[in-house]
Amino acid sequence: MRKGGFSNNLNLKLNLPKEDQSIATFLTQSGTFKDGDLLVNRDGVRIVSQSEVEAPPPIKPTDDQLSLADIDIIKVIGKGNGGTVQLVQHKWTAQFFALKVIQMKIEESHRKQIAQELKINQSAQCPYVVVCYQSFYDNGSIYIILEYMDGGSLADFLKKVKKIEEPYLAALCKQVLKGLSYLHHERHIIHRDLKPSNLLINHRGEVKITDFGVSAIMENTYEEANTFVGTYNYMSPERIVGEGYDNKSDIWSLGLILLECATGKFPYSPPGQDGGWVNFYELMEAIVEGEPPSAPADQFTPEFCSFISACVQTDPKNRLSARELLEHPFIKMYEDKDIDLSSYFNDAGSPLATF
Ligand code: ATP
Ligand code: MG
Repeated sequence: MRKGGFSNNLNLKLNLPKEDQSIATFLTQSGTFKDGDLLVNRDGVRIVSQSEVEAPPPIKPTDDQLSLADIDIIKVIGKGNGGTVQLVQHKWTAQFFALKVIQMKIEESHRKQIAQELKINQSAQCPYVVVCYQSFYDNGSIYIILEYMDGGSLADFLKKVKKIEEPYLAALCKQVLKGLSYLHHERHIIHRDLKPSNLLINHRGEVKITDFGVSAIMENTYEEANTFVGTYNYMSPERIVGEGYDNKSDIWSLGLILLECATGKFPYSPPGQDGGWVNFYELMEAIVEGEPPSAPADQFTPEFCSFISACVQTDPKNRLSARELLEHPFIKMYEDKDIDLSSYFNDAGSPLATF
């Protein structure tokens, strides 16, 4: 595959003086080699600052680390409306990544702008947000190299377990709120497409948000063609009617996701029918005009019901922010219970999506 387009500098650059090229300085207990600013461990090679060495933050290599020429494709792990996601392996560090390929013809004049939007993904540094290592456009496709999350998405997981009980949901939700809090309050980014398939999990019990920024690109691009490819199911009423929207739009989506996880079905499904909404406009009307859904008080704790209601309010001003929700009693009540999401994810059904 030919490299091209946005990123002209994709190959690994070590930038070491010649005499330092032998990586033999010291070996820590965790099997990490460190030489000056170069760190080599089971996660790969990266350039670090001195302060990172003892307690590394989430892996965030430099922009120059990965190239398509350096990776082997293992298998397809998922397909969305926009493209395909493949499990890939770095040839010489053996580290796994997820490669997302979105086929999209982009006018030459648009490319610069899209390159910049993709860079938003790359600059995010938060343990609750999927790391984007590299992105570029080549010959009609956008390529995005992402952190590989071996548990797949929350949508995949929910298919296996059907429902998620409150204690696990609280632990999972806390991580999503931390990710949202980072995106909203530190980076001023609205996700715009929060849904179960954009929350990814791994064997360590981590939950991370993915595909922020991508939805903006997809939307802007398809807007021109007058089509939107994707789901409106989790979209807030103000977005559906085309009003201005802000962070609170993501909070609406979060509320619906949690309710779906808790009850095992999408909150707007018409009762007694499995097939979902016959008419797409009926669903849109129900979201915009109808009473917002709520958690049944006879099946869930008052804290959970109150949490859902704090998210799923028709007027965005009445929804709490991610930061406020982190302090909500639903999150707090399970905090000292040591909820083990790692075992929960690993024990549920079939093995995680490894190779
Ligand atoms: P849409 O295209 O409507 O946004 P989607 O989110 O399901 O839907 P993709 O983002 O292309 O589409 O992802 C498809 C699937 O690939 C996900 O549901 C998930 O199972 C898997 N996947 C995506 N990213 C990763 C990743 N970084 N690590 C592991 N699996 C992933
Ligand atoms: Mg996605």
